[in-house]
Amino acid sequence: MKIIKKQDAELYAAMQSELYRQSENLELIASENFVSNAVLEAVGSVLTNKYAEGYPYRWSKKTDKINYKLYGRYYGGCEYIDKVEELAIERAKEIYGCEHANVQPHSGSQANMAAYFAIIKPGDTILSLELSHGGHLTHGHPLSFSGSLFNIVPYGVNKDTEQFDYDEIRRIAKEVKPQMILTGASAYPRKIDFKKFREIADEVGAKFIVDMAHIAGLVAAGVHESPIPYADIVTTTTHKTLRGPRGGMILCKEEYAKAVDRWVFPGTQGGPLMHVIAGKAAAFKEALTPEFIGYQKQVVANAAALAKALNEKDFNLVSSGTDNHLMLLNLGTEEEGGPSGKKMEGSLDKAGITANKNTVPFDTRKPFVASGIRLGTPAVTTRGMKEAQMIQIAEFISQVHKNFKDEEKLASIKNEVREFCAQFPLYTNILEENK
Ligand SMILES: *Cc1c(COP(=O)(O)O)cnc(C)c1O
Repeated sequence: MKIIKKQDAELYAAMQSELYRQSENLELIASENFVSNAVLEAVGSVLTNKYAEGYPYRWSKKTDKINYKLYGRYYGGCEYIDKVEELAIERAKEIYGCEHANVQPHSGSQANMAAYFAIIKPGDTILSLELSHGGHLTHGHPLSFSGSLFNIVPYGVNKDTEQFDYDEIRRIAKEVKPQMILTGASAYPRKIDFKKFREIADEVGAKFIVDMAHIAGLVAAGVHESPIPYADIVTTTTHKTLRGPRGGMILCKEEYAKAVDRWVFPGTQGGPLMHVIAGKAAAFKEALTPEFIGYQKQVVANAAALAKALNEKDFNLVSSGTDNHLMLLNLGTEEEGGPSGKKMEGSLDKAGITANKNTVPFDTRKPFVASGIRLGTPAVTTRGMKEAQMIQIAEFISQVHKNFKDEEKLASIKNEVREFCAQFPLYTNILEENK
């Protein structure tokens, strides 16, 4: 940040503070991670200058297949960025073993929009996971394009198990006969049975989309079952467990490839962010290494260790635990007197621990207040933390919970957290450069 430092003190101060915040705090937001220096380099590169509407290929009129020898861009000078996009596409296909990959979506939400349009029309019915039970805004919230253009029928988790009840999902599907069934979640701590969803979709003649935004890294490493064999289309973000730059991606079977490409560009987007696509290519190369598989296994082992330690401290975990990288603490109802999710999020912040409030299934508080806290292990695992550190993190969280109104105590925990984090250095090269 040498140049920004010289010419823009205000911007530099904010960016410098963020660098320190990331390095000195415990990052437990389940959807966040720390990218490699290779990804940072790609995203900060001159590729941001290039316009490249279109694709590095065209469909051959003769065979109706993709032909990389045909020019598919609307601008000149794309010969090098074509290579960048081809690398990202080929690596994505290799990671997931899928027939087609579109790496252009600017975000997970953009990926979902293009994917829905590729297989259904406005007014059609989507059966999807309720937001307050772990779903995502783009799965049908009235304030999202999804809720305003499509007829949404939600499914939730079972009240006793707090897990998917496939018989109940089948019952609703048979009743409403949706054109599309959607699964995937932002806050569901358990494995998802994609095969069962496929069977239900087939029984009612629906298309089936999986949004694996949260678990894409786990799937890449074989730590969670892959949706690729079962779903018509799979959408994802690239910046959560997958540990790439902020962005989206769509994977699909050959038969949907053309529709997906058209609905990304020109359907819902203009020029692709080529610097971000370079970052995706860099991250995908990393995702193909044995180290990445080890990392994802550790993410899940750490989540299991953190859940166990929190259970032992008498926290109430939604569905009693986790199979993946995240968990939800149910802090109880207002009558029970503990902090709300919002209050606990604020207290954690004061103690140097970053997490987010989240609704729990059948929450009695408003979503902006909520009764839960969502915790994830991807970011702390990237820093090198293991099971022993998860036990310490559970201790910090328990201390914050017991002292959630005590400003002094929270400040003293913050000091401990900073020392704890200093044992797991992050971005030392960038810190060094910006001292
Ligand atoms: C994060 C997330 C998205 C959207 O990602 P953005 O990049 O923020 O648009 C979509 N679906 C699910 C399930 C997510 O968790």
